Parts: sequence; C-alpha cells; structure tokens
Amino acid sequence: MPLTVPTDSMTAFEAVTWFFNQGAAHLNLRDETMDLMRHSWRELTVSVPVRLDNGQLKVFVGYRVQHNGARGPYKGGVRYHPNADLDEVRALASLMTWKTALANIPFGGAKGGVVCDPMQLSSPELNRLTRRYTQNIAHILGPNRDIPATDLGTDGQTMAWMMDAYGQLHGYTPSIVTGKPVELGGSYGREAAPGRGLVYCLEEWASLTGYRLAGAKVVIQGFGQVGSWAARLIGTLGCVVIGISDVRRGIYNPAGLDIQRVFEHSRREGSVMGFPGADSVGVQEFLELPCDILVPAAVEKVIRSDNAGRIKARIVLEAANHPTTPAADTALAERGITVVPDILVNAGGVIVSYFEWAQNIQEFRWEEERVNKELERIMKQATREVVAMAQQERITLRQAAFAIGIQRVARAIELRGFV
Ligand code: GLU
Repeated sequence: MPLTVPTDSMTAFEAVTWFFNQGAAHLNLRDETMDLMRHSWRELTVSVPVRLDNGQLKVFVGYRVQHNGARGPYKGGVRYHPNADLDEVRALASLMTWKTALANIPFGGAKGGVVCDPMQLSSPELNRLTRRYTQNIAHILGPNRDIPATDLGTDGQTMAWMMDAYGQLHGYTPSIVTGKPVELGGSYGREAAPGRGLVYCLEEWASLTGYRLAGAKVVIQGFGQVGSWAARLIGTLGCVVIGISDVRRGIYNPAGLDIQRVFEHSRREGSVMGFPGADSVGVQEFLELPCDILVPAAVEKVIRSDNAGRIKARIVLEAANHPTTPAADTALAERGITVVPDILVNAGGVIVSYFEWAQNIQEFRWEEERVNKELERIMKQATREVVAMAQQERITLRQAAFAIGIQRVARAIELRGFV
C-alpha cells in the first residue's frame, strides 16, 4: 500500500490513519476488512446547554465517537478540553480500538469529548455540563454497549456525576463508567494504573533488550494523573527522575528530584514551579533536556518534526495519547531513538478499567494486590508480544503494536461475519 510522506500539518485522525496503514502493511488483510477498520462505526455530536453560575445559558458541543465494536463494548474516556473537536476525538477513539485489542481485553474503542476549558468552570457548572452531556449520549451507552471513563480534564468526580445521570434514566448502574471513586464502586489501583502500567512495560522492555535501568535519567512532561504516578513509581526500577514539568513550567536537577516533595509542593502551590533546589526550564526546551528516557505524559503532538532532531533521550515512552506526530516518529526512528508507543505504554488505564467493569458486574471487589498483579501480567505479556514482532519483522515497536491490534480486530470482524 502506498504511504504518503507524513507532515506535521496532518490532522490527528490523518496521523493515526497513517500509523494504522503502517501497521497494516505488515499484515495480509482483505481490503474490505481494512475499510471497515478505518472508519468510525458511529459518531454522535450533541449540544450541551448549561446554565452558568451568572445566569447565562452557554451551549457547549459534545461528541461520542464509537470507532469499532468488533471485540466487545466500545470503551474509552471522555475529555474536557478546548481542542476536543471531532477530528481529535475520532483519532483518540481509533487509538482505543488498537489499545484494547493489543492488551487483549474484551472491548472495542471509543472516545468522548466536550469542547470546554474545565479550569474556567465552577464545580456546579461542571456537574450540570456532565449531566446534560450524559443525558444526550445515554441512548448509545450501556454496560454492554459503550462504557466511558476518565481522560484529560475529567476525573473520579466527573464519573460519579455520569453514573448518577445515567442511573436516573436506567436505575443504579455502576458498570456504566470506569474511573469512579472507590466509594462508588471504583477499583483500587485505577488512579495509579497508567503510571504503574508504564513501569511494568518499561521493566519488561528493558529485560528483553538488555537495557540497564539502574541510574537511568528520566524526564517527565506532565504532572497530572498519569505523569505524577509514573514519576512516583519509576524509582522502583532504579531510575532517577531529573525533570518534571506541568502546563506552566518545568523543573530540572541533574542529580535527581525528590518526587514526594515535588508532589507536595505542587499540591500546595498549584504548580511544580519554584521547587527549591531545581532549575526552572521553559516548556519548549524541557523536552530537549539531556536524559536517557523521555516520558511525554501531557497532551498530543508535542514531539514534532521541528523539535525531534533536538531530543536527546535514547528512549521515548509515550504515556500521553498521540504525543508524537508521524513525521517526528520517522525522524526519531532514523536517529535510532526507540519510541515505545502510546497504545502499549498507557494501556494500564483501560486495563484496570476492564477490572473495574468486571468487578461491578460481579458485584465483587478485588484487593489492590490482585489488581496490580493482573495488570502486571497483561502489560508484560503485551510488551513481550510487541518486542517479539518488532524483532521478527524488523519494524518499529509502534508498527508492531498496531499490527498486533489490527490483526485481532480483523479476526473478530471476519469471525462475526461483518464482511
Ligand atoms: N482515557 C484512558 C485512555 O486513553 C482510559 C480509557 C478507559 O479506561 O476506558 O486509555
């Protein structure tokens, strides 16, 4: 299949389609099956009118994209962000399809979004927005149809409101969303799961490739739910975190940062900025700091063709969704930098979402130890499969990860007789 030369001006969905085509090029699939996998199966756009605290009515726009449901109910988070437009949500929904297939958990892929800046809304406004959005998409949701979860700009509280709004229509249904607070049927270990999953993935990758983790210097972009947990847990592998950033600024100390103290400082001050004993670094230069492992754990498209040449890390671990553009991905590969792709690295979140859903359906709670053990098993298995395929076919880890996911979805499509 001819592959166009990638550029940074590609939209998010064009970029993910480019990665899809690259992965699928290593498989021998029917054109019809490929066609079915390229398109979203359903895309819903809704108006979300919200009465603001000042009495004004503001109409927000919300989406729920169900990309593919061949392997199980649609699954994926809901994002509250000014850039959460249809193209972005569609791209993220398709990433969920390949992510759940790669982890081999029984879900399809979906994503939701409301175009808004949650930092500018009060808690009662967010409550009203969440309820109205949920009501307007509720007819396509269900524990066996589509199960939303947290993503950028949403958290356990948002999921509690979603569960409540859905419950008003259908009765008490905790299995309708994941990432809930533990008090409402959330799973132990869900909040830490993407960070913990990243650590299991890195540990397995290093043991398979003979990479020495002890003393490896790590720079993490993003100190939210994913980045802060990755920062707190990566030290268990002997790695040293030397840089951390949030939306405002980065901090850097080549001798290592005390993560617990950074965490406390950030809680108190609302930012990592001003942490004593560390240099302050601008968000642009931050990704170019000298280090061994770079972890983009914030937003999409931060590694582009204009900065890929200046990345000094030897390994890029993609904790965020779609942090690297296809053009940058190619540039990094040419420079011999290993990129461990998002659909593998951050799969811990949706894997523990699967455990949460399973616990809700069985009305039985697992201990955190069991959650982490099962997470470790699935993350390490997926990592082994990706590394083995990449070595066998002499392709990148991203191409291998996509190929494995696509193969599983194609098989389900053909077995179910869609084509
Ligand atoms: N938003 C997370 C992701 O991008 C988790 C999705 C889920 O748990 O359904 O993987």
